[in-house]
Amino acid sequence: MFKTWEEVQKYQEGVARILTNSIKLNRVSHSYIFEGPKGTRKKGVAIFFAKTLLCTDLKDLTPCNECHNCKRVDNLTHPNLFLIDPPGKTIKKEVISNLIQELAKASLEPGPRVYIVIDADRFNQSSANTLLKTMEEPGQEVYQILITENIHTLLSTIISRAETIHFLPVDRDLIKNHLMSLDVKETFASIISQYTSDIDTAEKLVKNKETEEIYLLVTEIFQNMLLKDQSSIISFLQAEKLLNTNENIDIFLNLLIFYQKDILTYKINYEDEIMFIDHKETITKLAKKINKYQAQEYLQEMLDLSMKLKYNINSQLAFNKLLMSLERGYKYATSSRSDTV
Ligand SMILES: [Zn+2]
Repeated sequence: MFKTWEEVQKYQEGVARILTNSIKLNRVSHSYIFEGPKGTRKKGVAIFFAKTLLCTDLKDLTPCNECHNCKRVDNLTHPNLFLIDPPGKTIKKEVISNLIQELAKASLEPGPRVYIVIDADRFNQSSANTLLKTMEEPGQEVYQILITENIHTLLSTIISRAETIHFLPVDRDLIKNHLMSLDVKETFASIISQYTSDIDTAEKLVKNKETEEIYLLVTEIFQNMLLKDQSSIISFLQAEKLLNTNENIDIFLNLLIFYQKDILTYKINYEDEIMFIDHKETITKLAKKINKYQAQEYLQEMLDLSMKLKYNINSQLAFNKLLMSLERGYKYATSSRSDTV
């Protein structure tokens, strides 16, 4: 939960500026569309904006976070705040009709009423029409925020009646720092922030034990390439249970790609840009085992594999082949080319 506009600004500078200006100038719109990619904090900002509208002790446009209203917004228990997020692929007409009835009820407290619709692209024709009616004549203190990743699927009549606020992808360094604030180690945080630019997914991944296990597996696979009595393929085969979902296989392959990129990065003298910082020693040793072209070839093999995996191939067989090819090069340095680079 956001506590200040400065925090919002860190993630969404433009959004914070537009919204605070509208409050300052007393030009808050009754209808907003918060539009932008997944994981850009649209919902968090919407709730914080609602808190700003409802707080009874606003200081320099910032909610006090202490009053009864602020606390109830934080707990999502304020009777004047409606979060519309029904399960399913469509938001039905009844949901909006019910909302309109609720908004008119006397049981609400005096002051602004705010409703936030999650994934507003789920409206069908009739629910969209019902919504449009309320947009044409909003109550004086009724504010609506429609959240969507696909603004183009909203009716143009809805778009034209609302003020659209664009959310931009969150900066990778911010994601990394955010993960580190959750006690995640720097290297792991850095890798995950490269894997996804969606801050919510990143947080979910680091909280899942399996993600760290995949990370450790990838580092072990590369370490084993340096040890004559250890096998990368056996490490991979032993992780069969871990790599049993498409999601985990995708993370596994991407981390292999990042590691191989690091080896190539080292080879072309961009040491500072290495992602697996904790494994620099292994990366240096591996980089010395092969030449630049081989490093590029391995990377290409991995990228090709990520394309092939989309076509339902036998992933275990494909990874076996890839790892055998890597072991030949790193472990036994059986390259047809001499290391001239
Ligand atoms: Zn307050």
